[in-house]
Amino acid sequence: MKTLDQIAAELAGYDPQALSADAVNAFLARLVEPVTDFEHVGIFQALGRVLAVDVISPISVPPHDNSAMDGYAFDGSQLNMDKGLRLKVLGTALAGKAWSGSVQSGECVKVMTGAVMPPGLNTVVPQEFVTLAASNASNAETASYVTIPAGIVRLGDNRRHLGEDLMQGQPALPNGELLTPAALGLVASLGIKTVPVLRRLKVAYFSTGNEILSLGEPPREGAVYDSNRYTVFGLLTRLGCEVIDMGVVRDEPAELQAAFVQAALQADAIITSGGVSVGEADYTKAMMKQLGDVAFWRIAMRPGRPMAVGQIFRDKLASSPFAARASSSGNPIKQEGSAILFGLPGNPVAVMVTFLAFVRPALLQMMGCRTSAPPLLQAKSQEPLRKKPGRTEYQRGIVSNAPDGSLQVKTTGNQGSGVLSSMVQANGLIVLHHAQGQVAIGDTVDVMMFDGVI
Ligand code: AMP
Ligand code: MG
Repeated sequence: MKTLDQIAAELAGYDPQALSADAVNAFLARLVEPVTDFEHVGIFQALGRVLAVDVISPISVPPHDNSAMDGYAFDGSQLNMDKGLRLKVLGTALAGKAWSGSVQSGECVKVMTGAVMPPGLNTVVPQEFVTLAASNASNAETASYVTIPAGIVRLGDNRRHLGEDLMQGQPALPNGELLTPAALGLVASLGIKTVPVLRRLKVAYFSTGNEILSLGEPPREGAVYDSNRYTVFGLLTRLGCEVIDMGVVRDEPAELQAAFVQAALQADAIITSGGVSVGEADYTKAMMKQLGDVAFWRIAMRPGRPMAVGQIFRDKLASSPFAARASSSGNPIKQEGSAILFGLPGNPVAVMVTFLAFVRPALLQMMGCRTSAPPLLQAKSQEPLRKKPGRTEYQRGIVSNAPDGSLQVKTTGNQGSGVLSSMVQANGLIVLHHAQGQVAIGDTVDVMMFDGVI
């Protein structure tokens, strides 16, 4: 693992006092490493987990040519552009019950959706397009005829090909795939019951600040209830991380040290909020510096700006008097390597925004996930937006459909970095990029939607 100085030296123009949002992501991408341990889990347990190996298809799906419609299968080479076709119906093929006889020119087999295509047949006409006619009144059951009108089907229509979904021996899912409901179904369609998935990432988090009240404490002058632990809990849980909630930690050296030591010995990453601003008159920054290799950044962004990033090396912590408390927590103790530290600002909106912009992509990389940033949508701004070039701004947005069906977005109003209700009202973040300036009504802006992320 590289030191922060080594990474800084690799990045041209690295300035911890004025980092662009892109530079932050580039830095973090170099800092974090994916987990490698994996376990085998049943499909029902695999939702949201990250695939540890490529899944190679052991079979072809579908395993045979079959009908995509309820209708009549026949040899489509008999079709003539301007003439209808009359065919004798020999029998019926059901899904799971094939037709075994042979079929000649002028003949067809009634097929249900999913039925194996009878040998030599390549085309299906949907049943609603044909007219039925009995050969004669006395023999209607056994020998009936269908007439296909001219021009209604082409050779090869409504036939699903063997292996058109997946071909035997081909990669069905690559390692690093986040297993979605569709991926679970795909794995099951191959007859596979268990999959190797990377171990879940363990993330410890706590809030800092003497003015922060835990739930259950009575209100007091100048104090605010802790909200960051709950948003961070929600964000981490949605990502599929295993969480270790360490509560609110007072601004007191021994308490802070105990929290950092315990967190680093148990977790892959630590997320704190508060106490990293410039001129912050507390012990949080000092303790981070003392225990780890930590950089304190000022990011050219709004909201956000201050953020601490680093790693806490575990070999230095084993002798700490607080190590024993970590051992009694029930979590296995990690002896080697380091825990990645994300010291987020204190303001509740800034916490969520820095998490979404920087922490989430870094954690996904640590989870071994190939998923890159979700695509940004483009929407027309319904209002003018003030914006200075030279920093990235994330405004809380409400995206909706304009009358013409296109996307439009307005802000939630007050964009204060403490106004958490704006995050509740919003369904996405308007991302005003580093170099971007003022936005006029009707201008197109990028939006990071919350759906699937939060
Ligand atoms: P700081 O970054 O510590 O200077 O905090 C910035 C602002 O965020 C202050 O108004 C804090 O009271 C507030 N704040 C910090 N931590 C939390 C928290 N866990 N929950 C709610 N507000 C917080
Ligand atoms: Mg503070």
